[in-house]
Amino acid sequence: MDASDYIITIDGPVGSGKSTVGRLLAERFGLTYLDTGAMYRAVALAAQRRGIDPDDTVALGKLCEEIDISFRHDQNGQRTLLCGIDVTDDIRTPDISMLASRISALPVVREALVAKQRAIGRSGRIVVDGRDAGTVIFPHARFKFYLDATLQERAQRRYKELIAKNMDVDYNKLFSEIEKRDRDDSTRALAPLKPAPDAVIIDTTGMTIEAVLQIISERISCCIASRS
Ligand code: C5P
Repeated sequence: MDASDYIITIDGPVGSGKSTVGRLLAERFGLTYLDTGAMYRAVALAAQRRGIDPDDTVALGKLCEEIDISFRHDQNGQRTLLCGIDVTDDIRTPDISMLASRISALPVVREALVAKQRAIGRSGRIVVDGRDAGTVIFPHARFKFYLDATLQERAQRRYKELIAKNMDVDYNKLFSEIEKRDRDDSTRALAPLKPAPDAVIIDTTGMTIEAVLQIISERISCCIASRS
């Protein structure tokens, strides 16, 4: 089997469960997990902290070249580091979600991050989640999944997640922000959110994470078994 046999992509809108499923899947199959959304969030945070205008493509391009984004595992799971500093919690605020979506539409940002993502996944053995993992980053990935769920359920999931982190969240505002972010992410010119033509689409509405994980794991195990 070549490296692409071990590349699993999981795309989908906000709150579709892709990060949780991706992380657990990576654990189950002993693969690396790459959260590409965390990378767009890290760039957004760096831009905000440096006071860079989100429309200043020159400054954002320079920023992408300068900053270092990396991941580390500890007892709290995967941590995101920006220039060596742990920003895992700082990148999860609603403001950074909206800013990440805005800057992710810019070619200069996407080109820089897609290059880093391909470098991380070069040797295969990776689960990648995002919006364009199966369409742009790894179009030759062996396994592609696209998770979806109703907007209501996704907003509820995200609301519970943020409340569990003791964040002060207004449900209606969050709902509108998710709606806008998905609309913007799906309608942008570059790498819009959409299922790859060869992705398995799973509607996770009303499903537990364990059930989704089961469907995906069976699919992978079955393909691997039938080829060995
Ligand atoms: O997945 P997450 O919600 O953390 O991603 C934050 C934002 O980053 C998304 O709304 C999207 O605009 C952008 N993103 C992207 N391409 C990816 C991953 C995330 O454009 N592969």
